[in-house]
Amino acid sequence: MAHAIQVHKFGGPEALTYAEVQVPAPGAGQIKLKQTAIGVNYIDVYHRTGLYPQPSFPFTPGSEGAGQVIEVGAGVTDLKVGDRVAYAGNIGGYASERLMPADRVVKIPEGITDQTAAAMMLQGMTARYLLRKTYKVDKDTTLLWHAAAGGVGLIAVQWAKKLGATIIGTAGGAEKCALGKAAGATHMIDYKAEKFVDRVKEITGGKLCDVVYDGIGKDTFPGSLDCLKPLGLFVTFGNASGPIDAFNAGILSAKGSLYMTRPTMGTYTATREMLTETANDLFDVVKSGAVKINVTGTYALKDAAQAHRDLEGRKTTGSIILVP
Ligand code: NDP
Repeated sequence: MAHAIQVHKFGGPEALTYAEVQVPAPGAGQIKLKQTAIGVNYIDVYHRTGLYPQPSFPFTPGSEGAGQVIEVGAGVTDLKVGDRVAYAGNIGGYASERLMPADRVVKIPEGITDQTAAAMMLQGMTARYLLRKTYKVDKDTTLLWHAAAGGVGLIAVQWAKKLGATIIGTAGGAEKCALGKAAGATHMIDYKAEKFVDRVKEITGGKLCDVVYDGIGKDTFPGSLDCLKPLGLFVTFGNASGPIDAFNAGILSAKGSLYMTRPTMGTYTATREMLTETANDLFDVVKSGAVKINVTGTYALKDAAQAHRDLEGRKTTGSIILVP
């Protein structure tokens, strides 16, 4: 019998209930996956609370996992039983077994464990599109990355370092700042203890940043805009502290004809080609050792609520996973 976490109504971590489930045989174009590791991401919190509502109950949260193909549906030709695969972006991940569209999984290369794959697909592909597509970061780029010791943050800092950028990271507390520094940040700001806008001005000698990556939302807005050069790009890609309230777009002109985008991985990995290009780039930087995936917490699937408490309580660093 398979098991899954189910949400019957939006709420706090206690809304995550553990249940026995029956997973049907895969339909055409699908595979059945026996999962060995499941990634925990901030988007799972938004799904659980209803910030990103789901159309029906109960639903199983989780948008990332890895494991073995145990059944193959009609028409699936490039995957077979026993293949090790991983995915990001298809809700239903908090489960010991699940169905997946075959064209949304990728084979895990030799040398990358299932646990590493489950920890990195969503956060790593996000770091990749943000640094390589949303803004093309290079050695001339000065960037600000909030929550630099978090899951996406630690991967992004290492990747941006490989690209040669000047990286200013923020994090809550000295220990997290030390982690960001060790990952390759040029400067770290403890934004619980210091005003990050003032520190960015000081560090850059008033020149400010080309791009600000902000997954915090409410608490760092509009301060993040004050860290940008004229014509700079504000990338608001998450809401860990809550969504940004409606604002007058005139603020973007007043602060220097700024650009703003609210990207999502779905758009950047929409086609099979985009997905494989993004995943392969991620596999390459991980296999080369340029980016290390820091799995700092492993929880039993049935303890998903505790994983959420720790993530929302800002107790985690790097990536955390569930094990069925
Ligand atoms: P993290 O591991 O980064 O955890 C969130 C971190 O945000 C915390 O550890 C904390 O770090 C910081 N934070 C600041 N304020 C708060 C607050 N009020 N409550 C909780 N945390 C706070 O999570 P992920 O790596 O999974 O995700 C990071 C962000 O990226 C999220 O906003 C997520 O939604 C977004 N995301 C967006 C994607 C996209 O395509 N748009 C895809 C993937 C992720 P500290 O203590 O250092 O402040």
